[in-house]
Amino acid sequence: MLKIFNTLTDRLEEFQPLEGNLVRMYACGPTVYAFAHIGNFRTFVFEDVFKRFLRFKGYKIKHVMNITDVDDKTIRDSKAQDPIRLKEYTDQFTAAFFEDCDQLQIDRPDVISHATTHIPEMIQLILRLKEKGFTYEKEGSVYFSIARFANYGRLSKLNVDGILAGASVDVDEYEKQDARDFVLWKAAKPGEPFWESPFGPGRPGWHIECSAMSLKYLGETFDLHCGAIDLIFPHHENEIAQSEAATGKPFVRYWVHGEHLIVNGEKMSKSKGNFFTLRDLLQRGIDPLAIRYTLASVPYRRKLNFTNDALHQAESSLKRLQELQLRLSTDNFPTGRNEIFSARTLLALQQFEQALDDDLNTAQALAVIFDLVRESNIHMASGEFRDENAALLLEILEKMNQVLRFWRPVQLDLDQQIQLLIEQRNQARREKNFALADEIRGKILELGYLIEDTREGIRWKKC
Ligand SMILES: [Zn+2]
Repeated sequence: MLKIFNTLTDRLEEFQPLEGNLVRMYACGPTVYAFAHIGNFRTFVFEDVFKRFLRFKGYKIKHVMNITDVDDKTIRDSKAQDPIRLKEYTDQFTAAFFEDCDQLQIDRPDVISHATTHIPEMIQLILRLKEKGFTYEKEGSVYFSIARFANYGRLSKLNVDGILAGASVDVDEYEKQDARDFVLWKAAKPGEPFWESPFGPGRPGWHIECSAMSLKYLGETFDLHCGAIDLIFPHHENEIAQSEAATGKPFVRYWVHGEHLIVNGEKMSKSKGNFFTLRDLLQRGIDPLAIRYTLASVPYRRKLNFTNDALHQAESSLKRLQELQLRLSTDNFPTGRNEIFSARTLLALQQFEQALDDDLNTAQALAVIFDLVRESNIHMASGEFRDENAALLLEILEKMNQVLRFWRPVQLDLDQQIQLLIEQRNQARREKNFALADEIRGKILELGYLIEDTREGIRWKKC
């Protein structure tokens, strides 16, 4: 049984979706004003491992992600004066974001919803809140009155006593100590993009989009909402307020938040020169899968210290895994099965699942994998490893890889396959195992190639 830490209840809970084996999942997407940095990708990789693990456990997932393409930052950096210009600016970063996700093997959500294409849904939701008396208007902007919502502060454990009644905040991001009535609809400012609405021309506040979209695609109550811890306040607190005030129902059952990433022990910042986008690292020739490995190797609730050493370690760990896979796919093992090692391999899969069942303990899951790798190498060296062991081990490693996506399946092209078979045949001939040599020649023939032994060595041609 999967246990996961729920920020809302502040404890580990057994995960059980509301409806059969369908998990309805929402994850806050990127704000597309710049290239995403590796801290952002730590969160997206954690969510991806979570999602793939749920799939591994037999769940079906409906995964929704928003793209914030209108907010304070997109408007500030684009300097756009109208929605069309704003979209031109944000589109390039949306495309870049998904290219980066592909590099990191992050699975696409089932629904990707842009804020700017959901303005009517947001307006509808604000109207619903207005009808129920949760809002007030001031100088063309609409605010959510947090004093009217009794549960405000439950997620972030905010003490609302000292909060000034009736004071409001217009910016999208602010600290806990500045908790105020937050803005749902912002009155248009001169020179900024705006949309028409029943409240007058303006644009949505940042928080309303996630409530409107999750309501539309996942229903009034859904299973899982993920994000980075810095979204707990105010963003997720405000999502709960907007959604629950409108529907009168619990919004999300499990809130799961990923910790921050630091670089060389320090908070990442442009001024310190330790700020990296994924693109910065790829330009240095770093394997994206080693980056994924590094990001996922620390359990999501622990701070991750991103260092060059960690990247190098990831690269060498991946190399060990890939070498093993290559041997398993290409070596000739004696036929049959070593029962003890078969049982050992199956046990590893169980231990892998138990590790991730324990609040997604990825570090433990990796320890299980590398114990298995080490023992496989020992068994191979002892000659006790058989062809059925190789097949089983490959299958188990592939199952693990469906969750972690750290390595690429070994795929040899035809040329490499034949080269490898020829080497194996030479080895067999040197060992005077002519039966095996003939068998390998047969395999090469099956691939459509004929080999000839000539005085200059071996030639092969298409037959
Ligand atoms: Zn959100």
